[in-house]
Amino acid sequence: MLVAAPHQAPRKASRRRDRAGGEFGFLNKLLPTLTQGSGVIVGPGQDCALLRFGSQRLLVTVDALVEGIHFRSDWMSPYQLGRRSFLVNASDIAAMGGRPRWCVVSAGVPRGYPTRDLESIHAGIDAAAAECGAAIVGGNLAACPHLTLSVTLIAAAARRVVTRAGASPGDRIFVTGCVGDAALGVRNLKRGRRSGEVIERYREPAPRLAAGRALVESGVVSAMIDVSDGLIQDLGHICEASGVGAVVEAERLPLSGAYRRQSKSFDTALTGGEDYELLCAVPQRRMTLLPKLRRRLRCEMTLIGTVTKRKGLRVLGRDGIAIDLGAKGYDHFAKVGSR
Ligand SMILES: [Mg+2]
Repeated sequence: MLVAAPHQAPRKASRRRDRAGGEFGFLNKLLPTLTQGSGVIVGPGQDCALLRFGSQRLLVTVDALVEGIHFRSDWMSPYQLGRRSFLVNASDIAAMGGRPRWCVVSAGVPRGYPTRDLESIHAGIDAAAAECGAAIVGGNLAACPHLTLSVTLIAAAARRVVTRAGASPGDRIFVTGCVGDAALGVRNLKRGRRSGEVIERYREPAPRLAAGRALVESGVVSAMIDVSDGLIQDLGHICEASGVGAVVEAERLPLSGAYRRQSKSFDTALTGGEDYELLCAVPQRRMTLLPKLRRRLRCEMTLIGTVTKRKGLRVLGRDGIAIDLGAKGYDHFAKVGSR
């Protein structure tokens, strides 16, 4: 999610968008041009790459947090920022059912940045990694105009392979936990608040590692993704990869008490992003397996919609009336400077 980009001129952003067709247009052009390496089971375009190395299968993912784009330094402590930079990566591993093992950290640091704060960032990464069963095994430090943290995470893969592709018409769509809180947290931070339940949800994502593993290993899910750019946009990724469409019933969305107190609209929950919950498709014949997994999931799972043969996404609001989605989520290129 974009939070602020005062240093990035909108004109430059729009030029970049024109040239590339937005983040996803750019990726659609780039990915087919890349050389196919050996040992690649799942390549670019998914939450993680899945690689065969000897008898082992590894998941690899990378994500960067950039000050002024993904966060503002006064929104959380350096320690919290470090934790967050690891946890958002762990969420991609969760989406493919893996176990985090090792990470390398590349930090871009403005000149004069306090050493003590840099130590706190790394203490945060280290603690979050240890809690998820991983360790920092290397990294890089460079001078950079804006604080930038890039974490590459390597994980042991599950025996089964679940990607964004694989959803079929009739599959039911489920999401873990609650959606929309983190985006409300960002809204509150922008309004100058510095504490509260939804702000904590933004600061400390809870990657669904146990749920991801259980859902993949049990063979219950046909497709899965983590919700980082907004529920609708990420569901769009599943639909595109699977060649299907979907209907979401907004009234079924799992909203927290804090969300319901602070918003009367479904919009933030549908498009807000940063939830780091899991969104998955479950074939109807496997639905009966879900209750047996409940203890392993360690979170709630809520039925929110159905995969359709008809392409495109439709969201039905109260009384079954379609909701006009407008902006569907976060495109890292298209919305620079606008959010
Ligand atoms: Mg992801």
